[in-house]
Amino acid sequence: MSFLSTHVRSHINQLVETEQNPFFIYDLDQLSNHLKPLTEQNVVKLWYAVKANPLSKVIQTLDKCGFNFDVASSGELNQVLKQGIAAERVLNTGPAKSKQQIAHFLAAGVRTFVAESLNQVTWLNQAAQDNEVKLDILLRVQLRWPDGEKNPLGGNSLTPFGLGCEQWQTLTIADYQQLNFVGLHIFQWGNMLSTEKLAQLWSQMVPPLQQLSQSLGFKLDVLDLGGGLGIPYQANETRLNWPVLVDALATIKQAAGVKELWMELGRYAVGECGHYINPVVEQKDNFGHHQLITRGGIHHILRPAVTNQAFPAQLLRQSSAPTHSFLVHGPLCTALDSLGEHQLPNDVTETDHLIFSQVGAYGFTESMPYFLCHELAAEYVIENNVVSCIRQSESADYYLR
Ligand SMILES: *Cc1c(COP(=O)(O)O)cnc(C)c1O
Repeated sequence: MSFLSTHVRSHINQLVETEQNPFFIYDLDQLSNHLKPLTEQNVVKLWYAVKANPLSKVIQTLDKCGFNFDVASSGELNQVLKQGIAAERVLNTGPAKSKQQIAHFLAAGVRTFVAESLNQVTWLNQAAQDNEVKLDILLRVQLRWPDGEKNPLGGNSLTPFGLGCEQWQTLTIADYQQLNFVGLHIFQWGNMLSTEKLAQLWSQMVPPLQQLSQSLGFKLDVLDLGGGLGIPYQANETRLNWPVLVDALATIKQAAGVKELWMELGRYAVGECGHYINPVVEQKDNFGHHQLITRGGIHHILRPAVTNQAFPAQLLRQSSAPTHSFLVHGPLCTALDSLGEHQLPNDVTETDHLIFSQVGAYGFTESMPYFLCHELAAEYVIENNVVSCIRQSESADYYLR
C-alpha cells in the first residue's frame, strides 16, 4: 500500500524549497473524494469528531460533504460555529461538562447532548429550565464483556466515559422535564480494522442497551455507536470496506429497532488526508544500529509515544540506494521522542526530508508543541490542486513569556 500519491509528493517537493521547518499538509481534494460516499447512504447519520483535527479548512470540507459535528469543549464549539455551521448541527459529547460549559453551549444554541453522569443530567436539565428550552439527551453507557480487552479508549477497563447500566438504573427520567431522552451512546474501542469484529461488538451491545432503555422507561429512538473505525498505519494492513460496514450497520439498526443510528467519525474521516514533512538533521551509527535524527518529533506528532505505533514514513527524494532499517528520533531531550523504526534508503543525509503519512487525525493538536522551544509546525492544505498555507510555522518567541 502506498500512503502518498505522486501529485502530493510533487507539491511537497515544491514546498520544501521555501519551507524550512517541519510542516503538515492536508490533501482536501483526497478528503472530499473519501468523504462523499460516506454520507451517500441512509443507514447512519454521521457526525465529525472535531478533536481528530479542528483545522478550519478540514471542518469546512466535512461540512460540504454533509457531516454534522461532535464537539467536546467550548473551543471546539467556537471553531465549528466560526465556520458558519448552525448550532442545531452540533452534538456535545465528553466526560467533563462543567456548569459553565453547559451554559456556554446552551447560549450558543446547542440542543443535543450526550450525558455521561447523573450530575450532567441534573445540570443539563437545570440549564435548560433557566433558558426555557428542551434538550435531546443520549445517555452514554459503559459495558463490560467477559473476554475483556484493552485499548486506548479503555475497551473493558474502567474509564470516565459514561456510566454502567447499574448506575444509570438509578435515574428517574420523569424528574427531568426539560430533557427528551432519545437514545443511548456507546463507544469503547478505537482504531478497529476488522468489520467482523466491529459487527460482533456492536451486536453484543444491543440487548443490554434495549434492556436499559426499557427499564428507564424511554423509547430507544437513537443508537449512537461513537467512532472507532480504523485506518492502516502499516503497509500490510488493509482498509475497512465502507459498503460492507454499512451493511453491518443496517443489520445492527434493524436488530436494535431504532429510528436513527449515529456515529461520530474522527480517524476514519480525516486520518488519511494528512502528511507531516520532517527535515533530517543527521544519520549516525550507534551500538550497531542506524539512527536518524530529525527536526520534527513528538512535539508535532505525539501519537507514536502514546500508542507505541509509528506513522508510516518514507523519504521525499526518490532514491535507488539499498534500504536498511533506521531508528528515527526527534529533537526532544527525552527517549520518548521516537518516531519508530523505518526501512529507508541508506544514502539519506541532512539535505533530505522524511514524509510521515496518515497524520490527518490526532496529529497537530494532539501533540506537545511547547516542550524544548522548537518551532510550531506549519499547516498547509491542497485544495483544487492549489497549495495554501493556513498556519505559518512560528518560533518559540511566539508563545514564550
Ligand atoms: C474521539 C471520539 C470519537 C472519534 O473517534 P475515532 O475513533 O477517531 O473515530 C467519536 N466519539 C467520541 C465521543 C469521541 O470522543
